[in-house]
Amino acid sequence: MACFRLHRNTVLSLIFFIHVLHHQKIIIRVARVTNKSNVRQWSNSRGEGKLFSFEVVDESGEIKITAFNNEVDKFFSLLEQGKVYYISKATLKVANKQYSTLKNDYEMTLHAHSSIVPCEDNQSIPTMNCNFVQIEELENRDKDAVIDVIGICKKAEDVSRITTRNSREVSKRALHLIDSSGKEVTATLWGEEAEKFDGSGQPVVAIKGARLSDFGGRSLSALFSSTIMVNPDIPEAFRLRAWYDREGYAVNSQSLTERKSTNSGSRMNWKTLSDVKNENMGHEEKAEYFSCLATVVYMRKENCLYQACPSADCNKKVLIQHNGLYRCEKCNREFSEFKYRFLLSANLADFGDNQWVTCFQETAEVLLGHSAQTLGQLRETDEAAFDEVFQKANFRTHIFKNRVKLETYNDESRVKVTVMEVLPVDHREYSRRLLSNIRRLAF
Ligand SMILES: [Zn+2]
Repeated sequence: MACFRLHRNTVLSLIFFIHVLHHQKIIIRVARVTNKSNVRQWSNSRGEGKLFSFEVVDESGEIKITAFNNEVDKFFSLLEQGKVYYISKATLKVANKQYSTLKNDYEMTLHAHSSIVPCEDNQSIPTMNCNFVQIEELENRDKDAVIDVIGICKKAEDVSRITTRNSREVSKRALHLIDSSGKEVTATLWGEEAEKFDGSGQPVVAIKGARLSDFGGRSLSALFSSTIMVNPDIPEAFRLRAWYDREGYAVNSQSLTERKSTNSGSRMNWKTLSDVKNENMGHEEKAEYFSCLATVVYMRKENCLYQACPSADCNKKVLIQHNGLYRCEKCNREFSEFKYRFLLSANLADFGDNQWVTCFQETAEVLLGHSAQTLGQLRETDEAAFDEVFQKANFRTHIFKNRVKLETYNDESRVKVTVMEVLPVDHREYSRRLLSNIRRLAF
């Protein structure tokens, strides 16, 4: 029985040895599991079943190991990423490079007599062989290159579901990674990795084997074979953490990935309310957008609701007729009922100024915490409860994303601010922004 480390040369001589000894099985003394896949189903002309694969590393190299069917049941839950095991009696074969990016010409398969035993004494086994590329350097790398990257996850977007070209539904999540080069890149995780990713606390994220694409500038995409590590126990991660907490958080990073432009203008153009006035924001032809952190100091509850046309996407105000029906001029129809819609006028204040704004349906619902329908019914039935809704919503602080336009009525122009989105305050992010403003003003 042979016993070997994972070095390529050793494996080469071993494979020869194995052929001579008619499929002698091999033992790895100790190896750390670095990239455990999920269980996948397979089917082909010979039948169907399931499999999973993992990679192991020791100080000499790395190799991929695959388990099928019974071995999936036996070993899947035993193997934990980052842990060290004795692996014995696996079969060696030539690697299928189509499914592996590892630097090894061979790979292994587990079978009925294979054994895997956890190893407690594992200090000397390296955690992973990574060759990290600085984010800044990604601009100079070729498209489709498979690279290792490490960065602080400055922001993790929410999971979304997309349909692939072969009409399979898959989850995706974009991470915004930044490193000490001050550059930022978007890395996309897929499937279960996207779903289970937790970006709270802005963790260090290392991706081994991500594909570089030129989609929207430069971006990264995790592959099925990629290993995603959150706060890995490696010196690069500690260095990055220290850098970010000391100064990196205040760096106004430049992204190599273009942001997707959304119609509501998802980029934050932070302004104070006095900036909005001093900079004469608002034009007649073109709307401008800004975001502010402000507190609601007054809401006009009298006219906050109106009776709207019940047909979908109309929202036009209806007029009650003598016959008791509600007439919509736009649809040119009469209806037996209406739906309530918000048209809420509110005064917002920050430390320097105040501003009247208009909130339509969605934003007013967020501010007041009730649907227009509920509040409309409350107004008809319980005035005290209706008032209480406003009292509760008053003096609350939010982030407001707004649209500014100059509107002219009867030769009089005035700035009209419409709230597009109301978001909760991320105090951590807000403090960082203040600190970075202080730094900028201090120099
Ligand atoms: Zn209508």
